[in-house]
Amino acid sequence: MREAFFLIFNFYFLKIYNFEPTDEDPITVDETYMREALKLAKQAYQEDEIPIGAIIVSHGKIIGKGYNLTERLNDVTAHAEMQAFTAASNYMGGKYLKDCTLYVTVEPCVMCAGASYWTQVSRIVYGATDEKRGASKFGQLYHPKTTIVSGMLQKECADLITSFFRNKR
Ligand SMILES: [Zn+2]
Repeated sequence: MREAFFLIFNFYFLKIYNFEPTDEDPITVDETYMREALKLAKQAYQEDEIPIGAIIVSHGKIIGKGYNLTERLNDVTAHAEMQAFTAASNYMGGKYLKDCTLYVTVEPCVMCAGASYWTQVSRIVYGATDEKRGASKFGQLYHPKTTIVSGMLQKECADLITSFFRNKR
């Protein structure tokens, strides 16, 4: 419902003022979408999955979503980003995610960074840093065309992970 409201609001807002979402304060736009990714991370948490959520946005529209499903699917590759990439590519009808931004609550791992390379996604905005398995620890894995923004809602994203593992002990 809130999503529908947001889309309708966006539609009228853009219509009246006639400017692209990119002309708005990018911090506000990124934060809004990161909150959507956080909702998916919370959904994963409720399902006893490592709480990581991802969305992909193209021209102000969410075209792919995912959250970690490695337990449910018994599949170590079922990371939030992988599902969001697949959904977005299906939506786009092509494998490249030009003019798309991936929002993910935790820094991508090497597998997801590698997958993002193949999609050539334009931007990646992530929340919490993964000190152990984050792709940035392993050199330049992202596509040269991909811009990386880190630390968006870092605390909220990290707190979810910390709380999850605290409850596991
Ligand atoms: Zn991953």
